[in-house]
Amino acid sequence: MLSKLVKIADRMKMSEQRFTQNAPLGAESWFGCGGTADILFQPADIDDLSLFLKDTPPELPVTILGGLANTIVRDGGIRGCVIRLGKPFAEIEIRGTRIVAGAGALNGTVAAAAAKAGIGGLEFLSGIPGTVGGALRMNAGAYGREVKDALVAAFGLDRTGRSEALMLDEMHMSYRHCGAPEGMIFTAAAFEGQREDKDIVRARLKEIKERRRDTQPIAEKTGGSTFANPTAEELAAAGLPEGTRAWQLVERVGGRGLKIGGAMMSEKHCNFMINTGTATAADLEDLGDEIISRVKNLLGVTLHWEIRRIGERQTPDRTQT
Ligand SMILES: Cc1cc2nc3c(=O)[nH]c(=O)nc-3n(C[C@H](O)[C@H](O)[C@H](O)COP(=O)(O)OP(=O)(O)OC[C@H]3O[C@@H](n4cnc5c(N)ncnc54)[C@H](O)[C@@H]3O)c2cc1C
Repeated sequence: MLSKLVKIADRMKMSEQRFTQNAPLGAESWFGCGGTADILFQPADIDDLSLFLKDTPPELPVTILGGLANTIVRDGGIRGCVIRLGKPFAEIEIRGTRIVAGAGALNGTVAAAAAKAGIGGLEFLSGIPGTVGGALRMNAGAYGREVKDALVAAFGLDRTGRSEALMLDEMHMSYRHCGAPEGMIFTAAAFEGQREDKDIVRARLKEIKERRRDTQPIAEKTGGSTFANPTAEELAAAGLPEGTRAWQLVERVGGRGLKIGGAMMSEKHCNFMINTGTATAADLEDLGDEIISRVKNLLGVTLHWEIRRIGERQTPDRTQT
């Protein structure tokens, strides 16, 4: 499979910049640990991406990743090809109160561009590391707003390289979930905000920045919320009060500060997992699974990972730690 890909790369005259073998994605993730990708493809533009998808055999596993702010790359690495959209997909265009952003644009840059143009309603994106592509797939959100509240439509390509446009209702978004076809690679999104005074919007950005600094371990190697908040039904079934947050469940089972290998549940925000410096991806995943099992056994609720885990697991050797 790898040799087939190398031939395709040769045929497409791919420079090393666009086509990398054994790319160290784990090290580039926010957690700063984990394995490599067999192949990393960074398309030059949408035609390049479309051609690559058309040209590659359908059995080739293709994984799309963005800023790696919500992803653990397992130590055994990712088979097949990982696609990441960088600068060529990071353009932001503003028309009136509509913002069209490439899927490779950083959420923070989109929020800042909106503020500069005097458009309100996208400030929440400033607190969410990663790209527009990742935010679409995760229906990312913070401080009472999420992507679906501002999204008009998403654009992308399917596995065969065909263009797709999905209106908001076709994205089937709910809390940290997007129902767009799994293989879809988002290339851009259109958001709608509202006209507002620039200074007011900027003040909100500042407030979000300060709030995050005070409540989240943003200076650490982390991946954001480890677990999604349980649904009202899940809480009711376990006899727990409505509105109980994931961090409260982690706290109740002794999760705050809990360590496995080099992975630890943050003391500052116990739904955040951190790499204290020596963590493997397996340390992180085992720690998350330990919390899930404690919460299930002690409180009767099944926590669900919000962080995506991809690639092949490797059994860790913890005899040295
Ligand atoms: C310090 C910190 C704080 C955080 N706070 C928040 C928060 O408040 N709210 C919140 O919602 N999240 C938060 N997160 C998590 C993270 O920022 C979001 O989930 C973000 O949307 C991930 O984007 P990404 O580009 O890094 O995605 P990645 O981690 O690279 O990928 C995540 C998922 O998106 C998919 N994906 C990525 N790009 C595309 C694309 N172009 N097309 C299709 N699918 C794609 C991937 O396949 C994967 O399934 C936080 C993370 C950190 C590190």
